Amino acid sequence: MSLFRSRSPRPADGDRLQIAGVTVRLSVNPRARRVSLRVDRARFEVVAVAPSPRKLAEAVAFAHQREAWMAQQMADIPEQILLAPGQTLTLFGRPAVLGVTPGRPRRLVDPTGGPDRIVAPAKDDDGEAWRAAILRLLKREALAGLSRRTQTYAAALKQPMPKVGVADTRSRWGSCRPARRGHQAAIRYSWRVMLAPPAIADYLCAHECAHLVRADHSPKFWEVVATLNGDPTPHRAWLRQHGANLHGIG
Ligand SMILES: [Zn+2]
Repeated sequence: MSLFRSRSPRPADGDRLQIAGVTVRLSVNPRARRVSLRVDRARFEVVAVAPSPRKLAEAVAFAHQREAWMAQQMADIPEQILLAPGQTLTLFGRPAVLGVTPGRPRRLVDPTGGPDRIVAPAKDDDGEAWRAAILRLLKREALAGLSRRTQTYAAALKQPMPKVGVADTRSRWGSCRPARRGHQAAIRYSWRVMLAPPAIADYLCAHECAHLVRADHSPKFWEVVATLNGDPTPHRAWLRQHGANLHGIG
């Protein structure tokens, strides 16, 4: 038995460590050139990246060197906002108040022009079932609103309507798989874009639809986006600046 055997097991891909109060996830990425740190704002953790499993210990050491930086990055992340009855969300620009109902989950439109109500039954004490039902409803509404926009832009490009889905992806707002022989094109959006101003949802749909005809982000691609929806610059800036806040809601 060696006296010098390390007490902690060797770090492995996917491990999570606590370093100075910050959760650090270890990740092996063979395409990385060196060890590095990045912030996963959605998961509220720092990712320590190493090019190989052998270099993970080096990545951990690097995280220890950058403790102050990591703490500051975490402090800058907006708080998580848990959905709760009484909250008002703005869905594609229309305010809607969350509420509890004994009936089925649904959206109630106020005939007097007040904000809509998004309601679901409260089946348990901690509100988990209520939140899950509200989230399902929000995703369904997101799918409807994003499908409508997609249809408009796909038609403007004389492309067949792609398959549209919504997901809870936090790393990207949308993705497009162009049509291949025998396969319909498919676009997936992050449902949370419905919480942004409607112009942002318009831009995102124009962006993904432009991929139906250009699979890259070349100047030609951006020309197509601009033809569909005008100058994308302010919308891209909005997403960079405020996008992370939307990920805190759920
Ligand atoms: Zn793109």
